[in-house]
Amino acid sequence: MSVQDSFSRIRQPLQKRVVNSLARSIGVRENFHNLLARFLELLEQALSSGDPAWLDPVLEEWSTARTQSDLEEGERNVTAMLHQIITYSFEIARENLNEAEALELVSALMPIYLHAIERVTALDSQIRVTYFTNELEKVQTRLARLDRSKSNFISIAAHELKTPLTLIEGYAAMIADLLPGSFEQIHSLLQGVFNGIRRLREIVEDMIDVSQLDNGVMRMNYQPVWLNRMLGLQKAEFQSILSERKQTLEIIPFEGYDQLLFADPARLYQAVRNLISNAVKYTPDGGIIRIHGRSLPGFIELIVQDNGIGIAPENHELIFEKFGTLGDISLHSSGKTKFKGGGPGLGLAITKGIIEAHGGSLWVESEGYDEVKRPGSTFHILLPVRTQPPDPRLARLFVAQTEPSTNQDPHQHSPAQDTHNSWSNG
Ligand code: ADP
Repeated sequence: MSVQDSFSRIRQPLQKRVVNSLARSIGVRENFHNLLARFLELLEQALSSGDPAWLDPVLEEWSTARTQSDLEEGERNVTAMLHQIITYSFEIARENLNEAEALELVSALMPIYLHAIERVTALDSQIRVTYFTNELEKVQTRLARLDRSKSNFISIAAHELKTPLTLIEGYAAMIADLLPGSFEQIHSLLQGVFNGIRRLREIVEDMIDVSQLDNGVMRMNYQPVWLNRMLGLQKAEFQSILSERKQTLEIIPFEGYDQLLFADPARLYQAVRNLISNAVKYTPDGGIIRIHGRSLPGFIELIVQDNGIGIAPENHELIFEKFGTLGDISLHSSGKTKFKGGGPGLGLAITKGIIEAHGGSLWVESEGYDEVKRPGSTFHILLPVRTQPPDPRLARLFVAQTEPSTNQDPHQHSPAQDTHNSWSNG
């Protein structure tokens, strides 16, 4: 008997067994029967012509016909179905043909099946890659939309909160003004109201800053800055908090510490203040906060180091995300300087945004989180040393103040600086 005849004898039983077995697992589908009949018909053609490519159209159709839900549910793939067909065809050949005929048919089918498996495997992985790429794109779009609405929400909420806050502040100030000085108790109660208003305002300002950074609308106002002066002011600002927490803030001079550079004085101050404020918050009473740094070619590295509770390495990136606050939110004492008095988790996101807007970078080093051993955290700011502002019009404006021929001593405290602030010349 010829191979074609042998195949004709097993074709019907093969079709029946495959349908019975596979239709169950793939959910009986109308076109499965037809597709299988076509497959067997083309298999017969491939067998007579000796060209396995006859099967290609049906294999392609089969592979691309996999539905979305097949892929989502991880339904058995076409390769697995093909394996099943191969197993059944060998089984049925053994049952319906004598040994020699079965062997001859199997040997003729083998190269065709091998070609089919190769083709289907390639198609299958191609389809999977396309499917997962599409899914990933959809998730990314959804995430971007979510991030945008979060950012819009922050911006709207902050602006909405600002108006009533200003009203409360104004009325509280009017009450304080109208009260005679003898109403000491009420004055001290009002002081509590003002403290609350100030804290709330800081949060609202942080929300506005974060949404500005998110939307890329925060502009840096470059002016001459001396780090030594800025750090001196920071120390003065933190003095009472430091003595309350029995902490020490050491500022260690380093090369380039008194060098003039162009940066946004207010924003840079805000960024460094956030780091010091965190160092105070996450270091127990009696701790030491050290600020030092070094000069690198084209950059100044400013280092804010504490001997506090530290940060686990897996959170070294998370803390720079907005709302990237660690630990149990309900335990936050909401104090700005109290030990572990966590805030809304915007400070580091803003700090990083400000430093990056200057063309610099910010990162943290810490061995880990341990409230007993207190490994501490070290924040590094890498700031480009700009000897003139990026905007040429501003550069012209500052030229007289920054040229060595003016003989101006950057350490000298000029009255003009006093009117603005004593570490920026703007
Ligand atoms: P928060 O308002 O919570 O202080 P931040 O963005 O300033 O928000 O900081 C994010 C988180 O990073 C904090 O909740 C804290 O867990 C961690 N963190 C920041 N600075 C330090 C530090 N110096 N030591 C230990 N943990 C810190």
